[in-house]
Amino acid sequence: MADKTFILKVKRQLRPDETAHWQEFELRFRPGMNIITCLRDIAERPVTRDGRDTTPVSYDANCLEEICGACAMLINGYPRQACSALVEHLEKPIWLEPLTKFPLVRDLFVDRSSMFENLKRTKCWIPIDGTYALGEGPRIAPEVQEMAYPLSRCITCGNCLEICPRVNDDSHFVGAAIVSQVRLFNMHPTGKMHAKERLEALMGPGGIQDCDNAQNCVKVCPKGIPLTESLAAVNGQVLKHAIFGWLFGHD
Ligand code: SF4
Repeated sequence: MADKTFILKVKRQLRPDETAHWQEFELRFRPGMNIITCLRDIAERPVTRDGRDTTPVSYDANCLEEICGACAMLINGYPRQACSALVEHLEKPIWLEPLTKFPLVRDLFVDRSSMFENLKRTKCWIPIDGTYALGEGPRIAPEVQEMAYPLSRCITCGNCLEICPRVNDDSHFVGAAIVSQVRLFNMHPTGKMHAKERLEALMGPGGIQDCDNAQNCVKVCPKGIPLTESLAAVNGQVLKHAIFGWLFGHD
């Protein structure tokens, strides 16, 4: 019996300044295969459907278990992780494109550095004073832990930025992921020490006021992070800080 096959269309672009073009591949279906398996099949035999030799498709990936965030791409038009996108659940033919809100490196590989730069700009970390033993950390109330844990699951994939209409060439909006991390670190008893600096970083251009409340972000987050709640919560914190900080020099 002939192998069952399916068609995969990949947007190819060897350099950022080159015009993109589509290539079509016919791949052998196996149950449980995901988009990474498809790209590996192409790497093993880089031949298009019409029999032309080509190069393996470039893409970014690391953990292959939806933890690193690196393999985010547009799959049938939606931003998702290639490692958790199973071929058997996808409409055929399958279309693969790079994320559009980050600079293209090659093919499906984009440079997501801007997200990490924005996490640095908003001080999304817990400061510690040295590398020596600091003793027990502060206690965190169970109800705060319950709120914080879902936020801590962000994998910096960039899907929420990709789907956001306010993340575009004319705006510097940092995106829901960064705002949600500000909420997470402002919740932490030690992280609170830098809460004002985080909020002030979100008060300028590209900050929370650039969110138009489209609410698309929450629909594409692979980790189910309550992003719209984070946007509302941080908006409230920024407002409070703006009013009370201005009136009394503190909040
Ligand atoms: Fe990805 Fe969700 Fe984090 Fe956005 S908030 S970067 S969609 S994991």
